Amino acid sequence: MLTATETADAVRAGRVSARDAVTECVDAIDRSDGKIGAILHVDRDGALRAAGDIDRRLAEGEDIGPIAGVPVAVKDNICTIDSPTTCASGTLKGYVSPFAADVAERLVSAGAVIVAKTNLDEFAMGSSTESSAYFPARNPWDMSRVAGGSSGGSAAAVAARIVPCALGSDTGGSIRQPAAFTGVVGLKPTYGRVSRYGLVAFGSSLDQIGPVTRDVRDAALLLSVIAGHDVRDATSVDRPVPNYVAELDRPIEGLRIGVASDYFGAGLDDAVRTAVEAGLDALRERGAELINVRLPHLKYAIACYYVVATAEASSNLARFDGVHYGHRTADPKDIFDLYSASRREGFGAEVKRRIMLGTFVLSSGYYDAYYDKALRVRTLIRGDFEAAFEKVDLIASPVTPTTAFPIGQKSADPLAMYLADIYTTSANLAGVPAISVPCGLDGDGLPIGMQLSAPWFEEDRLLAAAHQYQSITDHHQRCPKQ
Ligand code: GLN
Repeated sequence: MLTATETADAVRAGRVSARDAVTECVDAIDRSDGKIGAILHVDRDGALRAAGDIDRRLAEGEDIGPIAGVPVAVKDNICTIDSPTTCASGTLKGYVSPFAADVAERLVSAGAVIVAKTNLDEFAMGSSTESSAYFPARNPWDMSRVAGGSSGGSAAAVAARIVPCALGSDTGGSIRQPAAFTGVVGLKPTYGRVSRYGLVAFGSSLDQIGPVTRDVRDAALLLSVIAGHDVRDATSVDRPVPNYVAELDRPIEGLRIGVASDYFGAGLDDAVRTAVEAGLDALRERGAELINVRLPHLKYAIACYYVVATAEASSNLARFDGVHYGHRTADPKDIFDLYSASRREGFGAEVKRRIMLGTFVLSSGYYDAYYDKALRVRTLIRGDFEAAFEKVDLIASPVTPTTAFPIGQKSADPLAMYLADIYTTSANLAGVPAISVPCGLDGDGLPIGMQLSAPWFEEDRLLAAAHQYQSITDHHQRCPKQ
């Protein structure tokens, strides 16, 4: 299957019709997704209709947009109007949003065809896509292993070549970690770069939507389409969107890349360390300068994240009460039972755990000790990044301490699952953009990711460096056996 850029070029040149591209994609989903579990809904008829419409408009000479005819899969916590948006939760089973997310509108107006909605951990809470209320997403490199999460469906679908590209959401690593586990590229933009309008909220001060793609060029293409100010999201920032693709060839000679020992401590697998260090060597050979930096508060990132994210989740998920939104219990005894039974029946164990934890850290008497303290720690972590970015242009690190783990290995141990987010949550707490790019395989042939992060709104620099890395390495070209 072609990449998004190749598909767009082929459609523009008339070598492939949008209908052909979409047909290939939905056929591949039908043929292969039964064993992967990446996809929750496919809209074959709607997608083919949209593709036919694009072909007709192109034939009439219309200049539709940079991704005309490109099939895109969208994580199922992003609202679309032609298919359900379930957040992989029982409470939203069959829910069809009356409005589309800003990113969905931008994709469609740039000519993309939304072909499918992808699997995720319920409400994006998790690191393995095992908490999906429907089925887990499997890793196409080894079907007995997780695809990562929460955007595990988006990553698995791109890795398995059943869609050219996808969107995910990232609150504490949910784009970058599954990208690392499945050998694809995942970008979390700066907080505020992409509108969250129509993204079902998990942690509103952390959530960002971003691309999941086979290479950095595609990530730049998709970011150019989805980024931009939106009055419907008060946290989206009104600043110009660069043409990220045009910036990709910026040289990295002299670029100062920070390496923090705080990211390379205990718990990091040797294979991951070795691959990331080899990635850093490649960047140095290309002309970048490696500089040691410190992020002394990084060790508090997981604790801080799991207070802030659960606090925000407990508030955001209050609306799924069977009255405003979500599943309603069949025979409530009274109003109290209506609320409690609806929520008990609608939510899975991980979501309930987060709601309880979040409600606790916000409760009177504990607010100062937990929530308020976490906000202070968050400011310190942000300060660490500010200080580091005075000395360096980018920071490099592993994405995850290990490669993809076996399905079931961590599902009974929430703390072990949370620790998988050790290197990713800090970028969300600080709001900086960060990307995961494939940088090798471990002894079992499982993909490893390298993370690069940049100062706020410097996605152009981030993407250019990641692209230069891909121009001298071929890790991103490897794919799982079909
Ligand atoms: N794994 C993290 C969590 O469980 C991050 C999830 C996300 O980024 N949506 O909260």
